[in-house]
Amino acid sequence: MKRIVIKIGTNVLTRADGTLDITRISSIVDQVEALRSGGVQVILVSSGAVACGRSLLGRGDQAGAHRLDPVEQRQLYSAVGQVQLIGLYSRLFKDWGTTIGQVLTMKESFSTRREYLNQRACMEVMLANKVVPIINENDTVSVTELMFTDNDELSGLVASMMDADTLIILTNVDGIYDGPLSDKASKVIEKVYPGDDVSGSIGTQKSGFGRGGMLSKYAIAARAAEEGIRVLIANGKREGIIKDLYNDVPGTVCTEFVPSEGGVSSVKKWIAHSSGFAKGTVTVNAAARKALCGENAVSLLPVGVVSVHGDFEEGDIIGILGPEGDLFAVGRSSYSAAQAREVVGKHDCRPLVHYDYLSLL
Ligand code: GLU
Repeated sequence: MKRIVIKIGTNVLTRADGTLDITRISSIVDQVEALRSGGVQVILVSSGAVACGRSLLGRGDQAGAHRLDPVEQRQLYSAVGQVQLIGLYSRLFKDWGTTIGQVLTMKESFSTRREYLNQRACMEVMLANKVVPIINENDTVSVTELMFTDNDELSGLVASMMDADTLIILTNVDGIYDGPLSDKASKVIEKVYPGDDVSGSIGTQKSGFGRGGMLSKYAIAARAAEEGIRVLIANGKREGIIKDLYNDVPGTVCTEFVPSEGGVSSVKKWIAHSSGFAKGTVTVNAAARKALCGENAVSLLPVGVVSVHGDFEEGDIIGILGPEGDLFAVGRSSYSAAQAREVVGKHDCRPLVHYDYLSLL
């Protein structure tokens, strides 16, 4: 059974004035249904709530006595817009006899393995019951420091968590360009192979209402591809794009990230995405750094640790710093910070971070 995550950007779903583009959304739903009838499981990550809420309330209608700050705007607009957005999806899928389910999540909900597994179980049970999960960030609750960079980041996490074969990121341009969009000579980069680094030539501009930019899309796509997921970045405003991408129709313009071979364990995937949640760090010596980064799979032993920083519990995610203070790996600590301090530099102790729970950055 194939499993695909499709991320739909604000600029795809809304018109220039921020109102929902019903024709476009309807076409997307029809294409998703075509995939589903072929036996594909589809998970949608949909933006558009904030833009929709903003257009519904309008500037003059911000009832409050004071000007809304950006956080208040996001909270208000998303609370209002998400209802409309999910309502529209619900109606359009209902025409096909399909039931949808809404998942609102936050970055924090990926921070502990328990919450991560809960979310995964939730989406698995929806798919098993032929319900289409439609995911968005819970913008009403997540505050600035704890929010996803954008829904691209969220879609990468979801694709990884759900072991998707393919992640399709739909935006309002044809893919990642090798230069600024304003430059007519810029072309879409058609394929990015494992190990390629084309980040230097990517334009940094953003367009319209969404939060994401091309550089963040690139980083997220590259990471997902490294984990064995095929990633396609394409123009969601092009008619039939999902079907064309799925069927590999010749001439369909997109940027494809070719996946690495050899999967990554699900625990490692979770850890790889968790560096932002590290509760502390340890600094290791040059020999330990070399061993961890070498060809062989090795665990981090206390003998290679020079110092322990922060306050963490056994099972928490910690960052691993090289002698120069550079963060080069993350892993799950088998010790609390206090226990780790006691064994720093000692021989014959159990690993501080077992290889199975270690991810190089
Ligand atoms: N969660 C935001 C929304 O629904 C979108 C964030 C983004 O632009 O990626 O409007």
